[in-house]
Amino acid sequence: MRLDIAALHRATPIVDGHADTFWRCLREGKDWTDPAADLRVTLPRLRETGVRVQSVTLFTEAAEHGVRATHEALRIMGHILAESRRAPGVRLLKSLADLDRTLAERDTVGLLVNMEGASPIGGDMRLYEAFHDLGVRMITLTHNHANEVADGCGVPNPGGLTPFGHRLVTRMFRDGVVVDLAHLPDPGIRDVLAMAQRPVVSSHTGLRRLCDTPRNLSDEAARGIAATGGVVAIDFYPGHLQDPATPEPCTLDRLAQVIAAALDLVGARHVALGSDWDGFDSTIPGLAHVGDLPNVTALLLDRLRLSPGETAALLGGNFLRVLRECFPNG
Ligand SMILES: [Zn+2]
Repeated sequence: MRLDIAALHRATPIVDGHADTFWRCLREGKDWTDPAADLRVTLPRLRETGVRVQSVTLFTEAAEHGVRATHEALRIMGHILAESRRAPGVRLLKSLADLDRTLAERDTVGLLVNMEGASPIGGDMRLYEAFHDLGVRMITLTHNHANEVADGCGVPNPGGLTPFGHRLVTRMFRDGVVVDLAHLPDPGIRDVLAMAQRPVVSSHTGLRRLCDTPRNLSDEAARGIAATGGVVAIDFYPGHLQDPATPEPCTLDRLAQVIAAALDLVGARHVALGSDWDGFDSTIPGLAHVGDLPNVTALLLDRLRLSPGETAALLGGNFLRVLRECFPNG
């Protein structure tokens, strides 16, 4: 790590808005505390790199809809709870006080539990309350398929929020659970933005400007998220950064172009990072795991000519501001 980047990482709390690491740990029998584990995110690497808040998902697939989704999400939640007790210096972030304590302690890593797709809630507010009590503090309203909350971005001619979706999002704003618009198609995004009472995020996304797929944010959606005070967190999945038909492999240069476009669109206070690590196979050369984040910091400083302050905001400060504005006190 270059000296100034190492110093910046030490002084900057880094936030990664999205990783499927515990889903993968359960599926593949891997241990995230093992430095040699074949995972993109491991606890030793988070510490070494200076990531202080890692969002981790309760991810369920379309085939797991209904009771199976609830079951699978509870299994991953149980694993996260057990790991947060077992691994030293790890804290589940449920409140502002948890966040403050975590940042005040030198080597503690905070886990922000994100339900990716609201299928496990099954349209039942009691299940939302149960997951909330267990520690879920961010919900990506849909994955690509439809659920009880809204249509996902993979649905042809999608509609917006369902009546239950309206109730759930209202409740999330009240409780301070971060509303995540990744995977949500335009009508759902418009519905949420029209009722936003706190900052909202897209936790892992590309931009339609540079890769035109319904999964990526339109200019209008990105600006709408910024208008709530929220963040557009750019992910590292090549299929979101450039057209998958592009013959050239995706590079760090391409990631720099997407981040530059995001900066151009919403400004340095509203761009963040959400790697999507452990959720896909193909990676960008030089960006294989969380230990490679200094290469992104180098892009921000050297290629995009951001100031150290803007770089720190993009690496973590912006996402932390959203958490502070959303999380309940105590
Ligand atoms: Zn995703």
